[in-house]
Amino acid sequence: MSYAMVVSAPGGVENFRRVTRDIPQPGPGEVTLRQMAIGLNYIDVYFRSGLYPWPVSDDLIPGSEGAGVVEVVGEGVDLAPGTRVAYTLPNGAYASHRVIAADQLVPIPDDISDETAAAVMLKGLTVHYLIQHSFPAREGDTVLFHAAAGGVGLLAGQWLNALGVRVIGTAGGPQKCLLAKAHGYDHVIDYRTQDFVEETLRLTEGKGVQAVYDSVGAVTLVKSLDVLERFGTLVSFGQSSGPALEFRVNDLARGSLNLTRPTLFHHTARPGWLHSASADLFAMLRSGAVKVEIGQRFALEDVAKAHVALEARKTTGSTVLCP
Ligand code: NDP
Repeated sequence: MSYAMVVSAPGGVENFRRVTRDIPQPGPGEVTLRQMAIGLNYIDVYFRSGLYPWPVSDDLIPGSEGAGVVEVVGEGVDLAPGTRVAYTLPNGAYASHRVIAADQLVPIPDDISDETAAAVMLKGLTVHYLIQHSFPAREGDTVLFHAAAGGVGLLAGQWLNALGVRVIGTAGGPQKCLLAKAHGYDHVIDYRTQDFVEETLRLTEGKGVQAVYDSVGAVTLVKSLDVLERFGTLVSFGQSSGPALEFRVNDLARGSLNLTRPTLFHHTARPGWLHSASADLFAMLRSGAVKVEIGQRFALEDVAKAHVALEARKTTGSTVLCP
């Protein structure tokens, strides 16, 4: 038997329910994975709560990142049972076993653990496209990255630092600021007690930054424009505090600013990108330049508690669910 944590309608964490089922069997081009670790992400909250459109006609199994062992192989699949693999794909991950398309799987190098792979696929590939595509940050640039102590934030600080970028972060509270400082950030602003616009301008001697990576949304997005230098880029890639409803296109006119609102799954759909970007990500981990900080672990059956902690800003780094 296998089990999954499902929600039957958009809403609060009380909607989570454990469902047992037969181990699902793969069709052509698919495999059945025995899942070893599942990554928790803010996108799981957006789907569970209904901020993002409900993607299925019945029960939803949330979760978009995981690692496991190939158990059963469907027709036409060139992967041996026993192979350790990782993936990032919207929804379906909160389960002890799952069926998944083989072309979405990336073999995990022997020296990277299942937990690390599960904690880094969605978040690390996000950092990859943010800093190489959305705004390609270069040595000597100064950028601002919000929610620096979060899952994406801790990876981004280290990766940007390795590129020689001066990186300013924001985080909620002194402990989170210290943690971000230990993960590549040159300066971290506690935006619960300090005005991040004033502080960023002070740290850059009034010049501002070349780019802001903003996943906080409602409470930061419009203010983020105030710290951009002329021709700077605002990368809006999330809304953990809610959508920024008061944003107007004309706000960009103050400095001929650029705005992009990217999403990871448009990048993973680009031919060849998933495998080449995963190779880059694993190389960064193996070089030691980027380390994965798993701040907390929950049993998969306790996923409701994990969502509560994430929404209450109580987590740091990555969170892993253990089936
Ligand atoms: P995090 O671990 O970063 O958790 C979210 C953090 O946001 C919190 O810890 C908190 O940090 C901060 N935050 C600020 N205001 C609020 C609020 N009102 N409620 C809750 N949190 C708040 O999550 P992830 O690493 O999973 O994701 C980070 C962001 O990146 C999310 O917005 C997510 O949607 C986005 N994302 C976007 C992707 C894309 O392709 N577009 C892909 C992956 C992630 P603090 O206390 O320090 O303020």
